[in-house]
Amino acid sequence: MSASLSASPRVESYACGHWLSGSGEGKPLLDAATGAPVAQIDSTGLDFKGMLDYARTRGGPQLRAMSFHQRALLLKTLGQMLMADKEVFYAHSSATGATRTDSWIDIEGGISTLLSYGSKGRRDLPNTRLLIDGSPEPLSKDSTFSAQHILTPLEGVAIHINAFNFPCWGMLEKLAPTLLAGMPAIIKPASQTAYLTELMVRRIIESGILPDGALQLICGSVGDLLDHVTAQDVVTFTGSATTGQMLRVHPAIIRHSTRFTMEADSLNAAVLGIDATPDTVEFDLFVREVVREMTVKAGQKCTAIRRVIVPRQQADAVASAICAKLSRVKVGNPTDDQVRMGPLASRDQVREVKDCVAQLRAEAELICGDPDNPQLVSGDVEAGAFINPVLLYCDQPAGREAIHAVEAFGPVSTIVPYESVDDAIDQARRGGGSLVASVFTNNGEFARDVVAGLAPWHGRVMLGNRLSAKSSTGHGSPLPMLVHGGPGRAGGGEELGGIRGVKHYMQRTAVQGTPGLLTSVTGQWMTGAPQSVSSEHPFRKSLATLEVGDAVLTDARTVTLEDIEHFATFTGDTFYAHMDAEAAKANPFFDGRVAHGYLVVSFAAGLFVDPAPGPVLANYGVDNLRFLTPVYPGDALQLSLTCKAINPRETEEHGEVRWDCTVTNQDAAVVAQYDVLTLVAKHTSE
Ligand code: NAP
Repeated sequence: MSASLSASPRVESYACGHWLSGSGEGKPLLDAATGAPVAQIDSTGLDFKGMLDYARTRGGPQLRAMSFHQRALLLKTLGQMLMADKEVFYAHSSATGATRTDSWIDIEGGISTLLSYGSKGRRDLPNTRLLIDGSPEPLSKDSTFSAQHILTPLEGVAIHINAFNFPCWGMLEKLAPTLLAGMPAIIKPASQTAYLTELMVRRIIESGILPDGALQLICGSVGDLLDHVTAQDVVTFTGSATTGQMLRVHPAIIRHSTRFTMEADSLNAAVLGIDATPDTVEFDLFVREVVREMTVKAGQKCTAIRRVIVPRQQADAVASAICAKLSRVKVGNPTDDQVRMGPLASRDQVREVKDCVAQLRAEAELICGDPDNPQLVSGDVEAGAFINPVLLYCDQPAGREAIHAVEAFGPVSTIVPYESVDDAIDQARRGGGSLVASVFTNNGEFARDVVAGLAPWHGRVMLGNRLSAKSSTGHGSPLPMLVHGGPGRAGGGEELGGIRGVKHYMQRTAVQGTPGLLTSVTGQWMTGAPQSVSSEHPFRKSLATLEVGDAVLTDARTVTLEDIEHFATFTGDTFYAHMDAEAAKANPFFDGRVAHGYLVVSFAAGLFVDPAPGPVLANYGVDNLRFLTPVYPGDALQLSLTCKAINPRETEEHGEVRWDCTVTNQDAAVVAQYDVLTLVAKHTSE
């Protein structure tokens, strides 16, 4: 790119429904490989308070008016649209220094996170606007006072301040759970790579998929934005600990107890098992993973392996295997197909990384890679932000500080030998809290001890061995369904983790009251709430007419010894408690021969089912089945089946209905309780 700086485009912000560029001079953003101007960035003059108001009054109410499934479908549509357009993003991604593989993680990894939340939202959440959290808590003996925890979306804005290394994934991994929860977002990407985020946001806005005000973008400084946050807002920060710690104590954030999540530096470790000698698969996997983590995104990954913790007797073998592989890594312009590692994001980053390497060299010797003389296969060594992979070795780690504290945010790792299992654990924990550690071992005892030692200090621990070599997603990949975050130095934050991540944008409230009122509030029937019994069996009702609380109270059926024996021989379940009176009596729970639990469940179905074809399409299982009182020959079973929850599927002609099934005996003791799950048509076919 040879355009002059004044001719380079200005990255714009999207505020209050308009694309705007700042009124200031603009800061130049340069291509990481060539140093050519890519864009200018500035946000001077934006109405930051107006943006918050816009999100709160426009985006929030529209999102909250939708159900989880409707919002999940938005994510799916958005993901599909972005995936179809992916090459546009790839074309601009190389300016950030990313190779095609690096860009794949950022672009397709980010879009996949949207799609993953799109399907999780419809699979794991109900098609409602309020989320029930846990089971009801009975608070009185006579079932007249109970409690239920619920989650509702916060009514403010999620402000996402992101790091430079993943301009797409960094935005989308936070946006997906935010929108699914029903909250609007304002994205603030790191300036250095904001042009790629801007491009993606443009596509999202142009698509018209999201409601107005659901997504805004600030390219450049956030101005006085944080002065106007309230108790209903959420601020998430990803970046350096220094910036995060400053923002965390912003007066408005402290004054309003605004939720603040921080994902910061992390000196992640990979531990080689005590069993993993150079002739093992685990040794090779370990070496490959370390090299991959050092070179993907040129080591500019929050999850990259910074500390390579190995048994002392293997230190030399590990060092020479890693050095051999690193020496073959081709560094250069990311648009060059043969290049495996591109430049850092900027020359400022190169300066910072070199400074960190200098600090590390006070404690560790450099054994591979010269940080001052990049060896390139292509690219401009003078104007580009290049650095070679750098491997260090700290022979005597006891009492050392820098190797566990200095994060060189580039292709830099340090090998640290350990003397015992406890020493390996201690070294890893000295990172002060990390996002991830990986352990390469085929020894269960070693894995158990090391995970027990690492877990309190890590958000994720990956175990690698020969069996998972092909299927493993690797050390460095945060996954939408798994928690991303770590304690202490890693920021103490938590993101993703499937539906856990959605709940970060919702308020949990304990609601107390009569079961009837709680049922009205939550839309889910609970024990003690009124039941509606009519001459029309609820299985005759489609979702159009079925209501929560509709119930059947059945006649009684007496269980005989013949029934038990017939069931036993018919199914083959001749367990002694059903067949042998003496042996059953000797059992601490029974006074004699008892009916099979599954016989009770089968009789229950026979009692509640309405057999003729109708809106009930299928039974697809039971949840929470418990047998609470033994059933003896002569006992009379009776049950109530009550419509507990109705969950229409957004894109189908049917939905799921959950029924409470409570089976009692002649003394009104509950013998079995469970939820019956059925699929029911939305409308009755004429
Ligand atoms: P950074 O310099 O701390 O910047 C992070 C973000 O904060 C950028 O968007 C930056 O915007 C913004 N920012 C800076 N000063 C601000 C202020 N006063 N008010 C509001 N926002 C402000 O970090 P970085 O250099 O981009 O990222 C590298 C670091 O991020 C590394 O240490 C890495 O470990 C960490 N990281 C962590 C994770 C994780 O998930 N834990 C993920 C990726 C990266 P400008 O760019 O406009 O200054």
